[in-house]
Amino acid sequence: MKIGILSLQGDFKAHAWMLRRLGVDPVEVRQAKQLSSVAGLILPGGESTTMLNLIERENLHGPLIEFSTRFPVLGTCAGAILMAVEVRSPAQRSLRLIDMTIERNAYGRQIESSIRRVEPEDNFIQRTVAGPIEAAFIRAPKIRRIGEKVTVLAAYDDAPILVEQGHLMAATFHPELSNEQRIHTLFLNKIQQEP
Ligand code: GLN
Repeated sequence: MKIGILSLQGDFKAHAWMLRRLGVDPVEVRQAKQLSSVAGLILPGGESTTMLNLIERENLHGPLIEFSTRFPVLGTCAGAILMAVEVRSPAQRSLRLIDMTIERNAYGRQIESSIRRVEPEDNFIQRTVAGPIEAAFIRAPKIRRIGEKVTVLAAYDDAPILVEQGHLMAATFHPELSNEQRIHTLFLNKIQQEP
């Protein structure tokens, strides 16, 4: 099974390392044609404005949206910002994949960059294993609103930090930068469950 990682900017190497650790071949995706060889896609952390500009420059906007209708996509931090239907502070265009409103850099100094241990929801534990999530936040966005089709898998400080909508998943933290393997494992399970 091959999994793509959007590799225009950001911490795509960390995701590749995590996938290899889980026994999966990562494919660095920089052009639309590379999407045809992968069964799922990761949008990494980084700087969402830069990533968006590069997506548009490489004419990837339409192909990424089209891919997401057919295959699982996981976005972490900046990747989650790209997936939100609405982006605030400042407002910014996005791929509009998950029905949520997300505010950039919204935690301020309190958790600007830190690792928190967060107790996940039961619906996460039931599908993986129990134990707190090691959530690495780096200038993290905050999910301010979620639509009816969005499920919360973990929340911190009254805001969702890990959500799913069908075969789409988004985390406002960086599982790829810690020892937390369950988010990637859940994502790989989704890919295996696809028809
Ligand atoms: N603050 C970044 C943004 O708004 C996201 C930070 C990250 O991915 N670690 O794009």
